[in-house]
Amino acid sequence: MPITIKNEREIEKMRAAGQVVALCHQRVEAAIAPGVTTADLDALVRDTVKEQGAIASFLGYNGFRGNICASVNEEIVHGIPGSRVLGDGDVIAVDIGAILDGWHGDSAWTYPVGEISDDARRLLADTEEALKVGVAAARAGNRLGEIGHVIEAYAAPRGYGIVRGYGGHGIGRRMHEDPHVPNYGDRTYGPVLRNGMTLAIEPMLTLGTDETRELEDGWTVVTADGTLSAHFEHTVAITDEEPIVLTKRLVSVVE
Ligand code: MG
Ligand code: MG
Repeated sequence: MPITIKNEREIEKMRAAGQVVALCHQRVEAAIAPGVTTADLDALVRDTVKEQGAIASFLGYNGFRGNICASVNEEIVHGIPGSRVLGDGDVIAVDIGAILDGWHGDSAWTYPVGEISDDARRLLADTEEALKVGVAAARAGNRLGEIGHVIEAYAAPRGYGIVRGYGGHGIGRRMHEDPHVPNYGDRTYGPVLRNGMTLAIEPMLTLGTDETRELEDGWTVVTADGTLSAHFEHTVAITDEEPIVLTKRLVSVVE
């Protein structure tokens, strides 16, 4: 499938979808505490998406049984929400996708639960920063590979495992469009980025190996060595200058 180019009107529609996702994250962040279950967070997002007149992208996607992906500690991505109770010191990656007016927004964030270890805090801060440097590299004229190149250049010297089996993607009328956006590699890789391309950029870093394993539930991806991982993601629109971060909340108020 060719990479789709969106016009300004379409990008504004994607921003509206992105704002639904951002509102969900704002509420999830406020709700996370020891004693809360991942099903509680799922219900909160289900209700928020509905209230906003949107549809949760993940529910039913290839049979997925959740409105969110909730991945705790060594779980990297695609954790299924359920009865798991969050405990003090856990970290939880919450991935949220919403469709509004036929357009998708997709964003993941990793949150601390109560007091977390220094190593965990460092992992979260640095993975968020890896997302920031990746986003900054997503501008017209750069090749796609620039994004993964700067993410790897940021993360590798700090000793993190960079998950290679999963990455970002084009996004628009479908949640997953071309191209695949790796979080590593050469800056000369892939097509030249153009104004109007929309990408989900999503580094996943670990405190140990980059090797992953899928659990028997057929979804949850964990680090092969059981070390903590973090996942941060934004949906962005490429411009000639700074990209537009469509899933960044424009108004930050507690609702
Ligand atoms: Mg996502
Ligand atoms: Mg994504």
